[in-house]
Amino acid sequence: MERFSIKEAWLGVTLGDLTQSGAQAIVNAANPQLAGGGGVDGAIHQAAGPELLQACREIIQDIGELPAGEAVITPGFNLSAEWVIHTVGPIYRDGAQGERETLLRAYRNCLKTARDNGVATVDFPAISCGVYGYPLEEGAAVAAAALVEGLEMAWVREARLVLFKQRTFDVFLQAVKNRLEAGL
Ligand code: ADP
Repeated sequence: MERFSIKEAWLGVTLGDLTQSGAQAIVNAANPQLAGGGGVDGAIHQAAGPELLQACREIIQDIGELPAGEAVITPGFNLSAEWVIHTVGPIYRDGAQGERETLLRAYRNCLKTARDNGVATVDFPAISCGVYGYPLEEGAAVAAAALVEGLEMAWVREARLVLFKQRTFDVFLQAVKNRLEAGL
C-alpha cells in the first residue's frame, strides 16, 4: 500500500480485493440498472448478500436508471463496509464521446456522496477499466486527477484506489505520482 498526503487528507493506492475493504464506504462500478453483473459489481453483490440487490431495486423504482457519471448510496449489508456508493462509469468508445468528463464526474460524485453522508474513508475500484473498456493509462490519469482534487477540498479524510491486478496497480500508482508531481 502506497499512501500520499494531500493537504489534510490521504490518498492510498493498494493491490487488493474491494470486498475485503476496511473503509467506511466502497464504490461499486455498477450498470445503470443497478442490477448486479460481472467484475467488481458481481463480487460486491455476492459479498453483500441479496439485501443489496433489493435496496438497488428500490432506488431504480424511484429514479428509473442511474445515468453514467452519477452516484447513489446504499447500506453495505454483509460487507464490512458500512456503505456502498454505486456509480456508473462511461462505456469507452473512441474517446470523443465525452468519456473523460463522464468518468471524472463519476469519481467526483462518489466523493461528494461520501461527504454528504459523513463518510470519512472510501475505497474505489478502477471504474470503467474492465468490461467498459476504458484504456488503463487514461482511466488511471482521470482517477488520479479527480481524487487529488476532491482530497484537496477535504471532501473525505482518506480515499484509496484498490486495484485487483498487479498491472492495474502499477499503472494507477504511476498516474497518482505523475499527478502529484505535476501539481508541485
Ligand atoms: P466496468 O464495467 O466499470 O469496466 P469492471 O468490474 O468490469 O467494471 O472492472 C473494473 C475494475 O475492477 C477492473 O480493473 C477489474 O479488474 C476490477 N475488479 C474486479 N473485481 C474486483 C474486486 N473484487 N476488487 C477490486 N477490483 C476488482
